[in-house]
Amino acid sequence: MNTYQQYINGEFRNADSNEQFAVINPFTEKIIAMAPKGGKHDAELALEAASVAQKEWAAKSCIERAGFLKKMAEVIRENREMLARTLAEEQAKIFPLAQVEIDATAEYFDYYAGWARKYEGEVIESDRTNENILLYRQPIGVVVGICPWNFPFFVMARKVAPSILTGCTIVLKPSSETPNTTFEFAKLVSSIGLPNGVLNFVSGGGSTLGDALVRSSQVGLVTLTGSVETGQRIIASTAENITKTSLELGGKAPVIICADCDMDMAVKAVVDSRIIFSGQVCNCAERVYVEAPVYDEFMDKVTRAMAAVAYGDPFADPAPNMSCQINSAQLTKIEGMVAKALEEGAEVLVGGSRCEDQPTGFFYKPTLLASCTQDMEIIRKEIFGPVLPVVKVTDFDEALNMANDCEFGLTSSIFTNNISKMMRAINELKFGETYVNREHFEAIQGFHAGWRKSGIGGADGKHGLYEYLQTHVAYIQY
Ligand code: NAD
Repeated sequence: MNTYQQYINGEFRNADSNEQFAVINPFTEKIIAMAPKGGKHDAELALEAASVAQKEWAAKSCIERAGFLKKMAEVIRENREMLARTLAEEQAKIFPLAQVEIDATAEYFDYYAGWARKYEGEVIESDRTNENILLYRQPIGVVVGICPWNFPFFVMARKVAPSILTGCTIVLKPSSETPNTTFEFAKLVSSIGLPNGVLNFVSGGGSTLGDALVRSSQVGLVTLTGSVETGQRIIASTAENITKTSLELGGKAPVIICADCDMDMAVKAVVDSRIIFSGQVCNCAERVYVEAPVYDEFMDKVTRAMAAVAYGDPFADPAPNMSCQINSAQLTKIEGMVAKALEEGAEVLVGGSRCEDQPTGFFYKPTLLASCTQDMEIIRKEIFGPVLPVVKVTDFDEALNMANDCEFGLTSSIFTNNISKMMRAINELKFGETYVNREHFEAIQGFHAGWRKSGIGGADGKHGLYEYLQTHVAYIQY
């Protein structure tokens, strides 16, 4: 069993209180690690280190800072197997998917290293003679990164890579469900020569350590990936200092299946999207609207596909399609939502219960629900599990209206070969992303950003980089 320490100002240290919390493997339900239960004092220490380090860090050339991102990508690739194993153990993520996350994370560091010579300021025409107006893009300062448990390694990189590149310093808190991969990464990067205080990892509760971090006046940007409720709390906590926030929150992704689509491709994409990491992905297909003429065909094919989903040990060879949920709270939540859907009139076609055939682990069966309607909780609230509710719609307009009738606005998708339906969906869906004829999964050069309650700002690509940069305009009269 590993015992981890926080990484503050280049040193590994226990929590100030010396308290720890246990990290559980969701598949075996056994304790696999102890991590420090940091609090207010730990937050202050880490923020102070990050503040002191920031000026000198920002003074280095961007290409020099990018060199550290390349080294991070390198140590990740050299330790791919160990990191994927740690990730699969702390999350019950199937091993091949854990490997994909590790590889994508290395790629992410390399991608942002490539921005070193690319981002620019602007020269703006003045109304006066003999005047230049220059717009600089400068590091916003100390970043606080708050991470969820579903992609702990990749989301860590989403916050660390743009911070390091732009000359910000960062204090990052992983979720208490999944701190192990982040602390393994801390051990790896402690030997790449990064100046002390540039990168700090702390762990502990959200309402204690997390709140102390986001409330501080030393912070230039708070970037959270998490639930809407945490986003709302962070907006309240950052209000006093008017600290900039970037919030990537929950989703309730609609899928529209049109009568003319390639049905086999659509069914595969929807099922893959729903069961990836046991349904615990913010942009997963959360509800499906099917045009009436192809409803029976879709239900027939999707029933067979959901029934064929294999679940089990994340390390089994060959790998199952999915494993279990992250913890018993998630399992109970899913169970409650399915029970309520049945009370409200939904019908179970596949699954609909815990997996009694698994001796350990927080397993819920891949589940397909028919006869769902727009007013049901299962169509309106984020499930975050392997449950696919389906609604039959009379036509495309009804599907569009129902897809938009939702408080979330993260991702959406449509399956059609009809150009007019495709273009209407792209123009009328109020979501940060729309996937056409493919599964829900974003690219690192895109911009992952939610609309409405799914967030403020976003990550990835050029626009994600700008979150970490403050504009500063100089008027120079000569
Ligand atoms: P969560 O909101 O419960 O926790 C996220 C993080 O916030 C944790 O580290 C937690 O300790 C911390 N936290 C909680 N209260 C806090 C406070 N008051 N101040 C500071 N920090 C606090 O979310 P979760 O259960 O870990 O993750 C699942 C949620 O994340 C889902 O809703 C999912 O949709 C969302 N998510 C969104 C994206 C995206 O890109 N939009 C990606 C992944 C996950």
